[in-house]
Amino acid sequence: MAYLTTAPRGTKDILPAETPKWQHLESTLLSTARRYGFREIRIPTFEHTELFDRSVGDTTDVVQKEMYTFTDKGDRSVTLRPEGTAGIARAALEHGLLGDALPLKVSYDITCFRYEKPGSGRFREFHQFGVELYGSTAPAADSEILALAYDCLATLGLGSVVLEINSLGCKECRKAYVKALLEYFGQYRDRLCATCLERLDKNPLRVLDCKSPEDKKIAAGAPSILDYLCDDCNAHFQEVKARLDAAGIPYLVEPTIVRGLDYYTRTVFELVHTAPTGERVVCGGGGRYGDLIQELGGPPTEGIGFAMGLERLLSTMIAEGCAFPEEPGCDLCLVSMGQAAGVRAFQLADQLRRQGVHAQCDLMGRSVKAQMKYANKISAKYVIVLGDDELAKEEAQLKPMQGGDPVPVALTAEAIARVLA
Ligand code: ATP
Ligand code: MG
Repeated sequence: MAYLTTAPRGTKDILPAETPKWQHLESTLLSTARRYGFREIRIPTFEHTELFDRSVGDTTDVVQKEMYTFTDKGDRSVTLRPEGTAGIARAALEHGLLGDALPLKVSYDITCFRYEKPGSGRFREFHQFGVELYGSTAPAADSEILALAYDCLATLGLGSVVLEINSLGCKECRKAYVKALLEYFGQYRDRLCATCLERLDKNPLRVLDCKSPEDKKIAAGAPSILDYLCDDCNAHFQEVKARLDAAGIPYLVEPTIVRGLDYYTRTVFELVHTAPTGERVVCGGGGRYGDLIQELGGPPTEGIGFAMGLERLLSTMIAEGCAFPEEPGCDLCLVSMGQAAGVRAFQLADQLRRQGVHAQCDLMGRSVKAQMKYANKISAKYVIVLGDDELAKEEAQLKPMQGGDPVPVALTAEAIARVLA
């Protein structure tokens, strides 16, 4: 029976009391991105499994362990999207969006699915807001994406979240770096976790991203990618930083950031909140990806973007005491006595709502006393009690619930709306 009244592990209901916070968060993020020219794209919840294998990378945790993959009734393997970037790249190719004015700028606000061990800030179904910018190799694009990420956080009131940036270089500089990493981690083969030993053979950069405390300690002493950047990659990184400096956008260079997905080149970054306990909460991350579009069969096109985890952003905002707009409540309860008054209350409520007033009338067949109690419970600002006398006079008393004198009003929606305004 518990299955009937308990949501699946790692999922969460967002109840009416919490949705105003979510709406504020999501509309702030989408409208901030809009000011930079990013327009929202909506993509399917599931895609062909091959899309994620190909793009996210088959040595990543996401593809190896976390995907919700199943065979549908047509015997096709499909996967619930673990992130947005791959689906958007697929959509851009499918609809020829890269043939329009470049750079292409899109934003998204989606649910994602990962089979992970649920824990603090970790769910199996969660929400991501993100942006993608395609078609520019210029460092100005990286700087604009970082500026937007910072603007989003600042607009939400999250000044405490730090922009940590790094460059992973290109394939060329990474060759030399991977060699240095292998040499370094090779000394610690007996101390690294089993997964990292595997990573060492397949994708040594991934070891820098390991969550085990022991491996983290070892990774802290690893050589820095920044010492291995080729001249072009180094110049690119310097230019990205120069623009951030010119705009006064604060950031921290953090050479251990490698990101969890395979497709990144050059700029990568994370949005990090440090809790009072010292715990690092990664609210978002992103970077430049060079090969993704080509991997999917498109023309050579670079992309850059980020994704923010909305659950983590929201809990950080609550922990930091960020301001949320107040939810507009009920303006008027039409309390009625008897059948005729009930019909009139219904009619007035209907007309008032069309004029933008949040009005409610009795749907429970309650007594006047019980209707007044309900008006109080839902914090209605005003009530009008309608009975035979009021109908006969075509006039009633508009009573402020917060105290103060009642005002007489004519029984028309226009007259009531005028007094409420
Ligand atoms: P982590 O290192 O925390 O596992 P990640 O590198 O896997 O994060 P990304 O793929 O970069 O995460 O996703 C972007 C953001 O989405 C993360 O920074 C985080 O805020 C959020 N996120 C990722 N996985 C989850 C999850 N299982 N539950 C809630 N939020 C998540
Ligand atoms: Mg993860």
